[in-house]
Amino acid sequence: MEKKGEDLKLKCICARCPTYDDCMRKKGDLLFCMDGKSSCKLVRYGCMCGMCPVQKIKGFTGEYFCMAGKAALK
Ligand code: SF4
Ligand code: SF4
Repeated sequence: MEKKGEDLKLKCICARCPTYDDCMRKKGDLLFCMDGKSSCKLVRYGCMCGMCPVQKIKGFTGEYFCMAGKAALK
């Protein structure tokens, strides 16, 4: 059976974000709101977290989790 985290990873829209770069793509990093920030050196080009279904499912708000780290979960 699929784990909950993997299920949410499929819903993460970071890969379509302008800030998501080749470094993150190579690592396959996603779901920063739950797994924590990226180790890649990033430049802010916008954040799509506000449109992400994971935000609604988990009930948290915020953006740039790839730089700021995990969201505060309720
Ligand atoms: S809220 Fe942002 S970091 Fe979290 S799953 Fe959605 S797009 Fe990815
Ligand atoms: S956390 Fe936000 S800024 Fe970072 S890659 Fe995901 S959508 Fe883009």
